[in-house]
Amino acid sequence: MSKHLKQRFRERGYRLTRQREAILEVLATTGEHLTAEEVHQRVQSICPELNLATVYRNLNLLAEQKIIGKVDFGDGRSRFEARSEHHHHLYCLKCGRVVDLFFCPVHLYESIFQTYRFRVTAHQFEAYGYCMGCELLNGKVGKP
Ligand SMILES: [Zn+2]
Ligand SMILES: [Zn+2]
Ligand SMILES: [Zn+2]
Repeated sequence: MSKHLKQRFRERGYRLTRQREAILEVLATTGEHLTAEEVHQRVQSICPELNLATVYRNLNLLAEQKIIGKVDFGDGRSRFEARSEHHHHLYCLKCGRVVDLFFCPVHLYESIFQTYRFRVTAHQFEAYGYCMGCELLNGKVGKP
């Protein structure tokens, strides 16, 4: 996985600095969707000289080059992940749990786009709500 990421990076003609390598390493070893602050925290052990601004700039550069993924759950904080292929998310508003969805619903709307004679080139789909665990805690699903 990590080797894959580094290869992706070099193929695009970028110099893989130790700092970028450390950032990729953090994302590759976690399956999670991390904010720049979280990446910064975790990268400290590998690359203590990296400051938050540099982490942020590098994350955005890597996301622009589609080497890593970037997603926004509407709370004003971008999250980054090692998966750069197209996918969607379920996001729990309470515990912050994120589920990756590899089913893409856009094809269901093909006939609607045709009606509007609109050629769709990009889209996003992120659903917000509460995971089963949080629903149970809230007492909304069944009763203990
Ligand atoms: Zn939850
Ligand atoms: Zn994801
Ligand atoms: Zn999609």
